[in-house]
Amino acid sequence: MSSQAPDHPVLPRIQVPRHPQWPTLSDTQKTALKNRIQQMMQEKNAVLVAHYYVDGDLQALAEETGGCVADSLEMARFGASSDADTLLVCGVRFMGETAKILNPEKTVLMPDLAATCSLDEGCPADLFSDFCDRHPDRTVVVYANTSAEVKARADWMVTSGIALDIIEHLHARGEKILWAPDKHLGHYVQRTTGVDMLMWDGACVVHEEFKGFALERLRRLHPKAAILVHPESPDEVVDQADVVGSTTALIQAVQQMPNEEFIVATDDGIFWKMHQLAPNKKLIPAPTAGEGATCESCAHCPWMAMNALQNLETALRDGTGEVFVDEAVRRNAVTSIQRMLDFAAQRR
Ligand code: SF4
Repeated sequence: MSSQAPDHPVLPRIQVPRHPQWPTLSDTQKTALKNRIQQMMQEKNAVLVAHYYVDGDLQALAEETGGCVADSLEMARFGASSDADTLLVCGVRFMGETAKILNPEKTVLMPDLAATCSLDEGCPADLFSDFCDRHPDRTVVVYANTSAEVKARADWMVTSGIALDIIEHLHARGEKILWAPDKHLGHYVQRTTGVDMLMWDGACVVHEEFKGFALERLRRLHPKAAILVHPESPDEVVDQADVVGSTTALIQAVQQMPNEEFIVATDDGIFWKMHQLAPNKKLIPAPTAGEGATCESCAHCPWMAMNALQNLETALRDGTGEVFVDEAVRRNAVTSIQRMLDFAAQRR
């Protein structure tokens, strides 16, 4: 059973920013900029942790400097195990907050603190807390894409890579779930596990734009292509998938499946890593709203696009973009995150 609660609050309209237009750098300028960043990283004992959806230059720099390019689960794990004094988090704000929650003694810097996420924006902590109070019989499970305050109200935090396992685990203990904020991922988990889940009404503005009908047409043009779909996508897209999974799972599928072509329904920032690991495979972006596309329908997250080499340098040089989390909030939030990390460690 899965349901939208009749007492679900009315949510604020989300303001989606336009993609920033970064000046094009010549190879010489880019090399000089990367050298300056590396120099400062050494001086500050800093390590770069980048998400698969950010610009390829940032992903390359993370790998060249001993950092990590990963999904949000691995980013959290890597930050917690690193002995660097400063974590440079290239991604969106909840990723920086998670790094700070797990590493309060470290400095966490982000290129732009305005880089948020429609799921985070669509789940204000005060409305969410009231909602939880009205359903005290349910275990509160929140997706990683939430604020520190929302994580502090939750019993568990999950990422897309481990959501199914944790929900099944809770179900086996006889627990009913209050799930937030992504209704598409929630529906996917609910349909797969059959667990009783009450859903928050949130969505990712990027994945929600993938269109089932247009995907059917594209599949007919590429009948041998495997369809890879992130579970933040709508049901009609998920239903056509050969593989549904986290960013890491989709990257592994491109490497391991014998197909030569793949239609990929997730943020196109992931193509940098897919091309790197499987250079001979053909990658086709899944169709979004198509012609006349806005920043909501170009398969690239406008908040992830706020990360660039230029503002990474500024953050390092001037200490801008430092992430702070209230200590009382942090102490509560760390419990829900640590539960997931402990669960993941046991599974390994
Ligand atoms: S791609 Fe979607 S879920 Fe990911 S950060 Fe952007 S808005 Fe949030």
